[in-house]
Amino acid sequence: MRLKTRLTIAFFIIILVPVLMAGLAFVGFGNYQMRSIEESYDIDEVTYETLSNSLQIVSKFTQSIFEEMRGDANGNADVFLDTEYLAGLNDRLRERYSYLIVRREGVLYYSGSNGNITKLFRELPGYGDYTQASDSGMYIGRDVKSFVKQIDLRFSDGSQGSVFIITGVDAMMPQVKSFVRDMLVAIVFILILTALLLMAWIYGGINAPLKKLKAATQNIKDGNLDFVLDVEGEDEISELCRDFEEMRQRLKETSVQKVEYDKENKELISNISHDLKTPITAVKGYVEGIMDGVANTPEKMDKYIRTIYNKANEMDRLINELTFYSKIDTNRIPYTFSKINVIDYFGDCVEDLGVELEAEGIELSYFNYVDKDVQVIADAEQISRVISNIIGNSVKYLDKPKGYISIRVKDVGDFIQIEIEDNGKGIAAKDLPMIFDRFYRTDASRNSSQGGSGIGLSIVKKIIDDHGGKIWASSKLGAGTIMFFVLRKYQEVPVNE
Ligand code: ADP
Repeated sequence: MRLKTRLTIAFFIIILVPVLMAGLAFVGFGNYQMRSIEESYDIDEVTYETLSNSLQIVSKFTQSIFEEMRGDANGNADVFLDTEYLAGLNDRLRERYSYLIVRREGVLYYSGSNGNITKLFRELPGYGDYTQASDSGMYIGRDVKSFVKQIDLRFSDGSQGSVFIITGVDAMMPQVKSFVRDMLVAIVFILILTALLLMAWIYGGINAPLKKLKAATQNIKDGNLDFVLDVEGEDEISELCRDFEEMRQRLKETSVQKVEYDKENKELISNISHDLKTPITAVKGYVEGIMDGVANTPEKMDKYIRTIYNKANEMDRLINELTFYSKIDTNRIPYTFSKINVIDYFGDCVEDLGVELEAEGIELSYFNYVDKDVQVIADAEQISRVISNIIGNSVKYLDKPKGYISIRVKDVGDFIQIEIEDNGKGIAAKDLPMIFDRFYRTDASRNSSQGGSGIGLSIVKKIIDDHGGKIWASSKLGAGTIMFFVLRKYQEVPVNE
């Protein structure tokens, strides 16, 4: 469940549940206390209204005694002069938070109160002033807040008197008190319970994925990427965990790539130092020979110098290749594309190559099957690097006494296709897919002395890719290799006027 939904539900629960439960508690405690009031004070029809309205309840408190007193007053008013009778009544009234006052001819005759009633006595209604039609009594609340019920009497000697039942309204009934207290406790309890349950529910939803996330973060902090953060669920934190897992996978891929890359670089450095060391050792040997006077004939001297020259050239080529490789790797090759006529361009190329190859005793044949005006957009210098790298490999990996190299240029629709075939030692099928990878050298070339740096063909591929072309090879071990690449033809777009 989404966190937002969870919180929305929690919001409604935290409002509705306490209200409902508090309502139930109110009904429950209310009913219980009302029954208790009815039983304790012998009153009927106690309602919630009565419970909340203290005047009503106060009035009901003494109602039965009041009725009884009125009955007595009708029979014989003089009983209210009998202090024993009055004390009995007063005792019963005390149970109901009330007491009795008798006034005779404006003078206090009897007081059931323990305290000072002077102020109250002054505020008591006069004889006949108690005009309430009902018997619910009246409230006097100036100095002393009290509830008064009055019966006016005329004694047998003709004197006037009034009997008052005074009920203090300050005192709250214990039942009402405990009702209020119970309600408060219940509400606090309900609030705490609801909040606790909701907290557990919300926390439970986010705790598990958070724990996993924490462990995962710790793992990454410790440099460990070999773990899986597996979290299901639709909430935001689970989504976060899934994003985290994706991040971990990417980090892992990059770190694996980096390790691979570092390994390749190390390998390259060791190859380069080996490849540079070999010609340098030779150069040193031949120079020492000259210095020691070993090259004592002009022919020997000429041979020594030629070898030194060739070795220096070999180093130069290797260093060039490396410089170019570092540029290609960081995309810093400055291409200068131009329209090139295919027939002219390849014709010139073959002419140059022919001389070099002839010197090595390799036969070069050339077939051009494209129309004379076919053009490509290419960087002439880089394409010639491509050709020279491929031909260089053909020469390098030639294992036959007589070498043949054939160059064919074909028209294949939107592209021109160049094929360079040799009769060298060929490439094993398992190596074929990898020869264009950086630093890849077949085992055979690795062990042989002609093995290069393994970057020649990766440079070739990069250049062809950057021209929007494609390169691939087919080969047969022991028989020879064919390198294919295509370049897109230049086509004039007709302009409609
Ligand atoms: P290198 O500098 O080692 O020649 P390349 O990237 O040019 O690197 O070639 C990669 C590998 O492909 C070589 O090491 C070699 O084993 C193999 N290879 C490339 N061209 C040929 C070819 N014409 N004949 C045989 N093997 C070849």
